[in-house]
Amino acid sequence: MKIIVLPGDGIGPETVSVAVDALNVISKKFKLGLVLEHDIAGHESLKLHGTTIRPHLLDAVKKADGLLLGPMSTYDFKDESKGEINPSKYFRKSLDLFANIRPAKTFEGAQTKYGSLDLVVVRENTEGFYADRNIESGGSEMLITPDVVVSLRRITRECCLRIARSAFELAMIRRKHLTVVHKANVLRLGDGMFIDMCREVGREFPEVKIEEIIVDAMMAHVVRAPERFDVVVTTNMFGDILSDLTAELAGSLGMAASVNAGSQYAMAQAAHGSAPDIAGQNVANPFSQVWSASMLLAWYGQRKGKPDFIRASQAMEAEMARAIAEGESTRDLGGKLGTRETGLAYLKRLEAL
Ligand code: NAD
Repeated sequence: MKIIVLPGDGIGPETVSVAVDALNVISKKFKLGLVLEHDIAGHESLKLHGTTIRPHLLDAVKKADGLLLGPMSTYDFKDESKGEINPSKYFRKSLDLFANIRPAKTFEGAQTKYGSLDLVVVRENTEGFYADRNIESGGSEMLITPDVVVSLRRITRECCLRIARSAFELAMIRRKHLTVVHKANVLRLGDGMFIDMCREVGREFPEVKIEEIIVDAMMAHVVRAPERFDVVVTTNMFGDILSDLTAELAGSLGMAASVNAGSQYAMAQAAHGSAPDIAGQNVANPFSQVWSASMLLAWYGQRKGKPDFIRASQAMEAEMARAIAEGESTRDLGGKLGTRETGLAYLKRLEAL
């Protein structure tokens, strides 16, 4: 398995390096033969090459088996004509990575303010309100007059169907409970179609119990009783917002792992941003990126029918849980270690497997 590694901005280099070390150790332990190829994207690339993402990277990722992408300072990248392309968007759109799978789980030993939870947000990743990816060319936000902006939201039957299918398939291997989160009381056509497509796909999965919840009420339900949710499927922007909330409810945004998967390609990237407020301070939690990397191994193992990759992924997650339980974690989880020290303690565990 060949993985392209792009460390990203802010805390990216600190957290991605832990994930890279972990992949190298687990590859040796499970004889996976992983090959990691390193390049750059984001601010570093903009400075060196005048663009946040060089076009050859797309070919490189297509020829490889996966991408490990660090968080990007996307808010800084405003003008594509100046090379300021959002790399996360670029790969999601170019590789059609339609399913953004974002688990949130409480771990023994991690400080949490709410009850225990173990859920997965399945977020549509290619359309919705995302102005930089929902039309073929240009952006779908328009300045109508200096004081009037129109932002378009795109919802298609095909994208609803495929994200619904991903969610039901995941629900089948979990607790067989799927919550459809929507705003069909206001977005009657778009979210109406989204719900209809979820119901249609649901007929193929009679064992999965379906529940429908309006997005604003969902915020209350998930805070009040997060343990009742299993798989949650929703449109792009709702999923982006909800998954930050669920990660924080589980302990910290620093645990927000995610994989972006399409039918051919996948990209592991923590769900959070580049966290400029803590960048370079050796305090960022590396487990969001480690967990994302392990999800990429599992995706590859399932796709290629290679159980050793799935076992390696399970081992990475189990050792992460043990490390957190024993306080070998960063301060956001109540631990006392820095990013590097958390990484070293974790690597020691993997070495000892
Ligand atoms: P953020 O997600 O970077 O940070 C929000 C809060 O969570 C901050 O307090 C930060 O310190 C904390 N946090 C995030 N990751 C953490 C970690 N691993 N360990 C401990 N704490 C962590 O959100 P922001 O500050 O609004 O955004 C910063 C930049 O990231 C912006 O340019 C934004 O556009 C971008 N962004 C990128 C992505 C992506 O690349 N996928 C996602 C979200 C935001």
